[in-house]
Amino acid sequence: MDEVHLIRIAAMARKSRPDITLRDFTWSRDPRGYRLSNESGVQRICRSEVHPEAYRPFEYENVLGEFGNMRQSPEGVLDFVRKFGPLTEEGMDESKGENVATALEQARLISQALRAAQNEHYPLDMPTEPRPISLTVKIREPGSEGPLLNLKPKTLLDAIWLLMAQLVAGYGEIRHCLHCGIWFAAGGQSGRRQDAKYCSDEHRIAYNNERRAAGKT
Ligand SMILES: [Zn+2]
Repeated sequence: MDEVHLIRIAAMARKSRPDITLRDFTWSRDPRGYRLSNESGVQRICRSEVHPEAYRPFEYENVLGEFGNMRQSPEGVLDFVRKFGPLTEEGMDESKGENVATALEQARLISQALRAAQNEHYPLDMPTEPRPISLTVKIREPGSEGPLLNLKPKTLLDAIWLLMAQLVAGYGEIRHCLHCGIWFAAGGQSGRRQDAKYCSDEHRIAYNNERRAAGKT
């Protein structure tokens, strides 16, 4: 097979590889727009947004690690939602609100999946009912530029599971931050570099400052 032919095949393969985008996934948050409610005996995080702000959770933030590390209490869910926005469409819906028990269960599953991905002997305690997640699919016009298929997660929770699946499939790695010890994803679609050692730039700076201070004393 001649070289030109090989190059053409490689280009076709690149074009038809599905585009599973997390980095440009956009979500909405409002640090002061949520409160705990216990109407009719079901704990929920209710929305009364004051200043909703659109942002990209997978550009700079460690959403996966912070979700897996979330405090297992209603206040833990509230803190998470205040920082990153609700997890589901129900949570985004002002007439409903995020179900606290479901959010806690999902965070426990992510935490277990993170542990299991790092240690094959970790005992899993998974629910018997699989939980569906949602992706939207866009198919490009034949002959146009870019990948044929474009897959996008619908909600923040769907995006977290999609990132988890990519990590397990070998696109990127799960690491522990040298400063705070929390999990974070490096490489792949995670938003952190493949060789990153810290969950955030703040923790890279904090770690280096502490070491410098320790060296002086
Ligand atoms: Zn950290």
